[in-house]
Amino acid sequence: MKSYDQLFINGRWVAPVKGGVFETVDPSNETVLAKVAAATAEDIDLAVKAARCAFDNGPWPRMSGAERGAVLRRIAKGIRDRLPELAEIEVRDNGKPLPEALWDLGDAAGCFEFYAGLAEQLDENAEQPVTLSDDRFSSVARKEPVGVAGAIIPWNFPMLMAAWKIAPALAAGCTMVLKPSELTPLSALELADIASKADLPPGVLNVVTGLGKDAGAPLSEHTGIDKLAFTGSVPTGSRIMQAAARDIKNISLELGGKSPFVVFDDSDVEAAVEWIMFGIFWNQGEVCSATSRVLVQRGIYERLLERLEQETRKITIGNGLDEGVMLGPLVSRGQYEKVLEAVARGKEEGARLVTGGNRPANLNKGYFMEPVVFADVPEDSWIWREEIFGPVVCIRPFDDEADAVRSANDSRFGLAAAVMSGDLERCERVARAFRAGIVWINCSQPTFTEAPWGGYKQSGIGRELGEWGLNNYLETKQITRYESEKPWGWYIK
Ligand code: NAD
Repeated sequence: MKSYDQLFINGRWVAPVKGGVFETVDPSNETVLAKVAAATAEDIDLAVKAARCAFDNGPWPRMSGAERGAVLRRIAKGIRDRLPELAEIEVRDNGKPLPEALWDLGDAAGCFEFYAGLAEQLDENAEQPVTLSDDRFSSVARKEPVGVAGAIIPWNFPMLMAAWKIAPALAAGCTMVLKPSELTPLSALELADIASKADLPPGVLNVVTGLGKDAGAPLSEHTGIDKLAFTGSVPTGSRIMQAAARDIKNISLELGGKSPFVVFDDSDVEAAVEWIMFGIFWNQGEVCSATSRVLVQRGIYERLLERLEQETRKITIGNGLDEGVMLGPLVSRGQYEKVLEAVARGKEEGARLVTGGNRPANLNKGYFMEPVVFADVPEDSWIWREEIFGPVVCIRPFDDEADAVRSANDSRFGLAAAVMSGDLERCERVARAFRAGIVWINCSQPTFTEAPWGGYKQSGIGRELGEWGLNNYLETKQITRYESEKPWGWYIK
């Protein structure tokens, strides 16, 4: 494995000021994958100053949207040109199956291409006339980049989460400092390399790897940052919000979830089983929008459970690089232990363990576990209410629509929700009744760069993706002109 012991600051690879490194581990065999540069407050300060200087004095915010778009398209091409190599890095750092890593990278490249298009459109629509009630004045509303953005991201989709922040921020004309998760830092460093080869001016994108407390906290507290975009857990999101409150930074937060999936008894049971499995077992269930709470109407409850158990037992578990593997290891020892504890807790709380929860017999190293189906999960139990962030689905029966909607919405989270029924009118009604930012009908999880992404309640503030994602990184300026030849009349009559 090549060396990852430098940070990308001001267009150059530099050693951290204090010279520290941390280890990232391959979760399939528990061996050290790479020693990675450990940034501290001093490095964060250098990175923010570089981004500040690039924003205040550099060409990036002053270029046309078309010029910025061309750079974004070169970054997308840089990702596509290196797909197999980057996918392998992502699998070895995160654990996910190779086909899913390839999806992520294709989506990451697509995200840069999509925002290249929006950057180009900014040349046309950055300024819009505003009709005022007083015709002595004319006015325009103008979109401008918010300034220097700090971005802090999690480990579950390392490259994709980086793309979701970098692409719209750069399209808007912002400069930025990105801190990836210490559990999966490698692909963000590769992305910095790709960006530098795409002729991104120095200082526009700075990538600093390090621990949350040593690098993330100083970034969120830095007064040189105008905007903070965070994806991660609720407790960290709350800390970030407090740090941002000190100097009133613009923030957006994409946080956790405990998303419901309501399955009515007129659904095709086979289709329901597939979407339930995909909704909670893809990416090892380490998905913020995973439909981890499933409500099944009583008429098909036992039949669906039986089919779900049969199919869940067939899932191939193993090293994500091996052909046919559908469930890789969990990302880290810490996450593995957290999920195992949640399974033990579910049993104590009286949920019926239908299948899973053990280490597969043929895998004695690595953070592997059999996917878990819990049935009859009490509504007030911890496993029903809290995010587990692993391949654990909690299921309970319901009798009627009103009760299903009540139970689905009875959560402090509101990221996603799904409904399945043969009655499309009912689906549309339930979709509108959900208190969640992303709603799927007759499916769960498909995600599109064009559509808004984000949560209600404690699942976050603001929306990523689509034009909403671009607006995250734009300020709106009012420019109003006095057109009348007559005096204003306050003093001179
Ligand atoms: P986390 O909150 O532990 O860490 C996220 C990032 O914050 C990491 O880069 C970490 O180093 C950094 N961090 C930690 N402490 C910090 C501090 N005090 N100050 C600043 N930064 C700090 O989350 P995680 O375990 O990496 O990710 C899992 C969580 O992310 C889950 O709750 C999941 O639902 C959520 N998530 C949400 C979305 C979404 O779009 N809503 C997407 C992916 C993941």
